[in-house]
Amino acid sequence: MIEYLEQTVFITVFLFFGFLIYRRCKTIYRNILLGKKEYNSFNSKNEKMKNVLLLALGQKKMFKKIIPAILHLLIYIGFILINIEVLEIIIDGVFGTHRVFASIFNGSYHYIISFFEFLALLVIISCVFFLTRRNILKIDRFQKVELFGWPNLDANIILIAEIILMVAILTMNAADLSLQNINSTNYTKTGLFMFSNYLTPLLSDYGESKLIFIERSAWWIHIIGIFSFALYVTYSKHLHIFLAFPNTYYSNNDPLGKMKEMPEITSEINLMLGLSNSDEAKGSVINRFGAKDINDLSWKNLLDAYSCTECGRCTEECPANLTGKILSPRKIMMDTRDRAEEYGKILDQNGNPEIKNFLLDSYITREEINACTSCNACTEACPININPLEIILELRRYVALEESKAPNEWNMMFQNIETNFSPWKFPIEDRFKWNKENE
Ligand code: SF4
Ligand code: SF4
Repeated sequence: MIEYLEQTVFITVFLFFGFLIYRRCKTIYRNILLGKKEYNSFNSKNEKMKNVLLLALGQKKMFKKIIPAILHLLIYIGFILINIEVLEIIIDGVFGTHRVFASIFNGSYHYIISFFEFLALLVIISCVFFLTRRNILKIDRFQKVELFGWPNLDANIILIAEIILMVAILTMNAADLSLQNINSTNYTKTGLFMFSNYLTPLLSDYGESKLIFIERSAWWIHIIGIFSFALYVTYSKHLHIFLAFPNTYYSNNDPLGKMKEMPEITSEINLMLGLSNSDEAKGSVINRFGAKDINDLSWKNLLDAYSCTECGRCTEECPANLTGKILSPRKIMMDTRDRAEEYGKILDQNGNPEIKNFLLDSYITREEINACTSCNACTEACPININPLEIILELRRYVALEESKAPNEWNMMFQNIETNFSPWKFPIEDRFKWNKENE
């Protein structure tokens, strides 16, 4: 009866978390699709897969900083492989079995678990390193104003949660080995687990019932921890664990620096010149030039925002930020995601998301977007090919084209380009006159 009770509780918890995760994923998907059509050209299928393998799976760009890259890769691989053990836990939980894979893998089962334990230890070491770097060494890119409060807490919560999950695995295995040693029923012999074996002396004073209690508690802590972790990441920057894959898959194929075309302008001009037929004209509803809010950006811009890891590699390379300007490309991505979340929440309450707030001004200020030099250093630095510049340019386009409120110096430059085909007051052919004058 007790085992059926445990199974029932497990299935209920499993379905409960499954439902919450499904609902949250649906919301994120809906929020990303609040964006407009993407007009950038995408890579061929082969290039897309290459990007996924090199950037998301291989974390190629991370290796510019070798030690954090290796530790990050260890956490990542460790976490993915250890989840194979979670599959076993789920099967055990649903069917009331115990270590179901032991009978399938027979003599090699303890090698597999020992390998997972090795990975668990590496994950613990890596997490301690990252916690130290963030909270004690206080490296520069984690001390920027946009990380104060929740973003810093979020990073610490995940690192501590990962340590707890790994300790739970080792404790569960150590208690299991102790129960095997005293020939407890239900705990069939599996062979030694390489690392938790060293923890068994710590449990030597406990009798069978206490050991079962410790083993079951660690089992439950581990599995509920994994379910909670899976739900929590959907609210956190750690969503990049999953979204790095589609984000690198849909990387922009255009050379860095090429400005996005504006089909709205083309269709407007075609209309003015009478080049569009009336059916086309009816179909082209122009809301805004540029972007004032998240629904003026493309779905890829919003996918970028949800994929951002808040690592700050972009801000670290940004010349505007380095020279003390208010602009931080990481903050641009965080603000875009926060606004998409707010926008989605208001939609869920059947309200109008544009009554009070917009991405421009309520989240990202004009001082920030005007500070950008359009150098693309942020895009180059991002480990998963996120492009903060595209969002900045779209916001600027809105200010220039819809509000005509670009800074005066810029307006003069626009006028010069229009009349002289150069940013200066004199025609482009005069630019090299000084050279001829000296001949
Ligand atoms: S493009 Fe703009 S935001 Fe990006 S690094 Fe250059 S100045 Fe900074
Ligand atoms: S945009 Fe890229 S580089 Fe910048 S914080 Fe996000 S993930 Fe890191």
